[in-house]
Amino acid sequence: MRDLTYIRELFSKEDEVLQSIPNGLAERGMPQISIPPEVGRTLYLLAKISGATRILELGTLGGYSTICLARALPSTGKCFTIELNAEHARFAKENISRANLDEQVTVIVGDASEQLEKLAQSGERFDFFFIDADKPNFDHYLEKAISLAAPNAVIAMDNLLYFGDSVVDETNDHPILAKLREVNQTLAQDPRLESMLLPIGDGLGIAKVKSV
Ligand code: SAM
Repeated sequence: MRDLTYIRELFSKEDEVLQSIPNGLAERGMPQISIPPEVGRTLYLLAKISGATRILELGTLGGYSTICLARALPSTGKCFTIELNAEHARFAKENISRANLDEQVTVIVGDASEQLEKLAQSGERFDFFFIDADKPNFDHYLEKAISLAAPNAVIAMDNLLYFGDSVVDETNDHPILAKLREVNQTLAQDPRLESMLLPIGDGLGIAKVKSV
């Protein structure tokens, strides 16, 4: 595996808030599965370049990716992030406050599918999505994101190569891998999307929703 120290130090140096999140997760016995710094920087840039003003994230954990995304917003922009686990959400809110992003970020505690349904009913639209909650629902989340997308929205999805490259190994028939392969096929071939899968972190999918 490539040593990313050079890239991290030059392009994706973390401030004190981001740097403290992995330790904070460990101290609380929470999973240490935040995106790595280079994925955070890539999400920040994608959101910034696309001019995102309304971001929706699925899967907050300690708020690492939320902070990276919210920092790309203009001062009037909003980032909504949905987290099932109330303890994770509480820790994320602490970190979001420490990053002075309370005005921009709303943490919604609940199940992503249920909350997406509510957002759909209220007619909300978003111009940037980051899908990083439970993998078995990734196909459903992608479909929902497309339906909630403002014109030219960007959809990013994490873990599409899954633990290194296990998605590539066709002899591995773990159900999550089957689901992720399906999602990758959709990203690559769905006529509503233009996509790429970047081999950074655990595999970062990016898609632009075509305007109709
Ligand atoms: N995006 C975070 C980051 O990089 O800082 C990491 C998110 S972690 C990979 C996945 C998170 O999704 C966990 O905190 C987990 O509790 C949450 N989650 C799992 N199932 C969920 C669901 N059905 N709805 C909302 N959140 C869920």
